[in-house]
Amino acid sequence: MQRRSKLVGRFAPSPTGRMHLGNIWAALLAWLAVRSQDGVMILRVEDLDPERSKKSYSEQLMKDLDWLGLDWDEGPGCGGIFAPYYQSERFGRYDVAFRRLVESGHAYPCFCSREERNAASAPHRGEQTGIISDPCLEMSALQRQIAMDTRRHTWRLHNHGEEIRFIDMNYGDFRHRLDMAQDHVVLKRSDGVYAYPLAVVADDGEMEVTQVVRGSDLLISTPVQLYLMDLLGYERPRYGHVPLLVDVYGHRLSKRQKSLDLGALIAAGWTAEGIIGFLAYQAGFANETAPVKARDLLDRFNWGIIGTQDLVLSEEALAQAR
Ligand code: GLU
Repeated sequence: MQRRSKLVGRFAPSPTGRMHLGNIWAALLAWLAVRSQDGVMILRVEDLDPERSKKSYSEQLMKDLDWLGLDWDEGPGCGGIFAPYYQSERFGRYDVAFRRLVESGHAYPCFCSREERNAASAPHRGEQTGIISDPCLEMSALQRQIAMDTRRHTWRLHNHGEEIRFIDMNYGDFRHRLDMAQDHVVLKRSDGVYAYPLAVVADDGEMEVTQVVRGSDLLISTPVQLYLMDLLGYERPRYGHVPLLVDVYGHRLSKRQKSLDLGALIAAGWTAEGIIGFLAYQAGFANETAPVKARDLLDRFNWGIIGTQDLVLSEEALAQAR
């Protein structure tokens, strides 16, 4: 039973470095998509990976969001009815979801090393990709039991090539048949850490998220997430993917580009309103790059304006805009 009556959106960053312009872009659009509809905003820190996530990055992330004027109603620091909001503190919930998938036959142990698996499943160009047969799916119960006792294994999603269809708020009608090797996503790593697809679905489901706005690099992950949502009995949220900010070579801006992380931008003289104004111009919500507060953009948010084309951003253009 849904306990909420309002639209519920979330921003779900991974604390693996300082926020950069690409993350700020996604956070701003997710925030506007919620706040423009008087919704509830959740901040969920996706610190699943113990090797890459750092508490100091989470703390910096919250300070940065605050500085940018992107607030949240539920999350670290303020709590909420679905606390905790750090994924590293939610493993018990993932255990429950995982057990349900094992019991219903939708999770299987895979003993392939990453290289072996990639080699086994590389689809040949132009070939119709049927359901990829994974040797680990063909094992007898006894073989599997023996292997599980002696060999490292991940747990993967067992799907049956179903077609998943949804209407993305920005990209429109989207269909995908779950017949690619990557659709057998890892649910649990061999070191016992739950993987992103399981955690994100369990969290969006448990937190009763009704609207997911995030970068279009995750559009292709959405069918598997919807499949998991259905299997676990959660209500599907609506999804809206936003185009990516890319460099002049078409690569997604990433934490590797140090000149675009927030620390470097601040050192170069950018203010919060300046950054928001620059991104508002990129989104098409403003005719020039004048400084603006995020909350002053609420009545300008419109999917039709954002469009679906990635936005090419050169460091020179950014320097000139300041
Ligand atoms: N934690 C993911 C990331 O930072 C985003 C997950 C999502 O929005 O679904 O890339």
